[in-house]
Amino acid sequence: MTDPIPLHYVWEYTDVDRRFWEEHLEGWLPERIIDAHVHVTNREHRLEPMTEEKRRQFWVSEVSEPKDATATERCLGIVFPGRQVTQVALGPPNLAYDLEAANEYLRRECLKRGWHALSVCPPAWSAERVAEELDKPGVLGLKPYYTLISADRKTRDRHLEAGIFDYLPHHVLEVADERRAWITLHVPKAQRLPHPDNIRQVKELRRRYPNVILVIAHLGRCYTEPHAREGIPPLADDEGLYFDISAVLNPATLRIAMREIGPERLLYGTDNPVFYMRGRRQWKGREYINRTSYPFHFNKEREDPETEAGYTLYMYEALKALKDVCAEFDVGPDGVRAIMHDNADRLIKSALPGKRDRD
Ligand SMILES: [Zn+2]
Repeated sequence: MTDPIPLHYVWEYTDVDRRFWEEHLEGWLPERIIDAHVHVTNREHRLEPMTEEKRRQFWVSEVSEPKDATATERCLGIVFPGRQVTQVALGPPNLAYDLEAANEYLRRECLKRGWHALSVCPPAWSAERVAEELDKPGVLGLKPYYTLISADRKTRDRHLEAGIFDYLPHHVLEVADERRAWITLHVPKAQRLPHPDNIRQVKELRRRYPNVILVIAHLGRCYTEPHAREGIPPLADDEGLYFDISAVLNPATLRIAMREIGPERLLYGTDNPVFYMRGRRQWKGREYINRTSYPFHFNKEREDPETEAGYTLYMYEALKALKDVCAEFDVGPDGVRAIMHDNADRLIKSALPGKRDRD
């Protein structure tokens, strides 16, 4: 027995995780890894305190605790022993934060570490403000989000049904297109990616702004098989459209992504710090259930103690699901390297010359 190492918030790294790493991941993961979707946040930039009420609105709010760059770097060394890991890092997409300070903090911390920053970009920004941001060293692109349309203390879903161009307006896209910026897009709607407006607007965005490096976050939030079956095929033929697989633990979703999109346009990501959570996810129709061993408010149906004792990190469960699906589709080391590193690396390199020209 080795003592558990504190990871973040209530999570720690235990012998169960060490064994899981050795058994399933150590021999399979490539030497270099890019996590293309990580949140790095300094709690000092929070303008309004987190309240119990807010925490309970949504499970992510309950498990999310701001994680700064130093802590993020320390954890990378623990969960990926012996690997070279870089990141595409995002600030907090949340108007409860001082976004100017949070973006500036993220940019500086990324520059120090060879990571790349996506600046959180509220739709209220002018074209000039977007240009100024994209010209800063260390900024690879933008992170728009529907919660940035306007604040609502009661719910984070006030703007869930917005259209993509409501929070990623055309004047922002014009500047991003000129500069070949990277945009990680979290799609709106309770219906998720399959909503006809999403399919139509993603296609319109790609047609009108072909130089934007567009990455659809979390496979379009297709965490369940029906969502993936309906949402992924209509967008799968676009050779210039990329998807990050962060927060996706579902083998059924990954299977559809592998079949329809393939390893050349999928990017590895974690959505950490949330996925340091321990446990496993289950799916029923269009719903998912998070099983975890910590007595969170949302964690009402606990599994038996023996099962809980076997829980590893969600991010490890996600990697194991990816490994199994790669095996099913005969995706060998080249394909695994593409997903885990090379695709993101290629996109980062294609975004940067546009920046260097203006230095
Ligand atoms: Zn995220």
